Amino acid sequence: MSQGGSSNVIDGRRISQLVQEEVKLHVEQLKSEHGVEPGLAVLIIGDRTDSQVYVKHKVLACEKCGIRSVKVELGKETTQEEAERVVRELNGDSSIHGILVQLPIPEHLDEKKLLAEISFEKDVDGFHPTNIGLLAMRDRKALAQPCTPSGVMEILRREKVETKGAKAVVVGRSNIVGIPMALLLLKANATVEVVHSQTPRAELESAVKSADILVVAAGKAGLVDGSWIKEGSVVIDVGMNSIPDASKKNGYRLVGDVQYDEAAKRAKLITPVPGGVGPMTVAMLMHNTEGGRRVASLT
Ligand code: NAP
Repeated sequence: MSQGGSSNVIDGRRISQLVQEEVKLHVEQLKSEHGVEPGLAVLIIGDRTDSQVYVKHKVLACEKCGIRSVKVELGKETTQEEAERVVRELNGDSSIHGILVQLPIPEHLDEKKLLAEISFEKDVDGFHPTNIGLLAMRDRKALAQPCTPSGVMEILRREKVETKGAKAVVVGRSNIVGIPMALLLLKANATVEVVHSQTPRAELESAVKSADILVVAAGKAGLVDGSWIKEGSVVIDVGMNSIPDASKKNGYRLVGDVQYDEAAKRAKLITPVPGGVGPMTVAMLMHNTEGGRRVASLT
C-alpha cells in the first residue's frame, strides 16, 4: 500500500514517523523493564554548517524517541590522536550505547582510522568492517546495518514488496549505500545486479530495464532515463542532488538520480525526492541506537 499525493508514491516521511514511534515504545520498555536509557554520542569535528544541520536533526530525533544524546564538538584543528582519544573515551563510557562520527571530517584527519576506532558494538552507523563483514556472511547478522540501505529495506517491507526471487538492480557501489544495499537485497533472496560508473551506459540501461526493484544511489541528477523503467516495478531513488532553480527562494531544488515524471508513469511504486528515502536514514539511526541486540550486548 502506498501513501502520498499519487497512489504509487511512497511517503517516506510517514514511514519514518512510524519507525520512530516504534523506537519510542521500545525505548520506554528498555527503561521500565531493564533500567537502561539508550545514549547516542555524536562527534562533530570542524565547523561545517551542513554538518551542524544534520546533527541537529539527529539530536531532535533522539529527543522525540526518548534517547539521550550527547553532542561532542571538536575544533577543525583537532589532531588525529585527540579525535581517536575522544572516541576511545566514548567506547569506555557505559552510558553511551551508540557512537557516530558526523562525516565529512577535516581533510587532515584519517577517516578510515578514526571510524575503525569506534568499538563495533557501538557502531550505530553499521560502517565498522566487522559489521560489514557480518552483513556479508550467510547466516550471520551485523549488530547494526547501515542506515540508508536498511531504510530502503524497511520501505520495501512496509510496502509489502516481494523481494524473494525478484530481480533487483543497484546503481552505485559505495560503502555507505550501494554495497550494503546489494548485500541486504541478496539476503532478502533477490537476484542482485550492481552497476557503477565503469559499467557501459548500454549495460546500465539494460540492467535498469530488467529490474523489478531498482535502487539508485549514484548522486547524478537524472542519470536513469524514465523510459527505461520496467512497467510495474518498484523504484527507490536514494540520490540527492541540488540543481539550480531560479523559481526557488534559495535558488536551487533537490532532485534524485531518476527522471521522476516519466518513471512515475511506469512504476508500481516510486520514492520521491525529497520525502522518500531521505527521512528513513535518521529513523533507522534511531532504530540502530535503540537496537535491542546491540544494546543488550553492552549491558
Ligand atoms: P558515492 O560515494 O559518490 O557513490 C556513488 C556511486 O555511484 C559510486 O559507486 C559510483 O561508481 C556510482 N556512479 C557514479 N556515476 C555513475 C554513473 N554514471 N553510472 C553508474 N554509477 C555511477 O555516493 P553515496 O554516498 O553512495 O551517495 C549516492 C547518492 O545518494 C548521493 O546523491 C547522496 O547524496 C545520496 N545519499 C542519500 C542519503 C539519504 O539519506 N537519502 C544517504 C546517503 C547518500 P564508482 O564506484 O565506480 O565510482
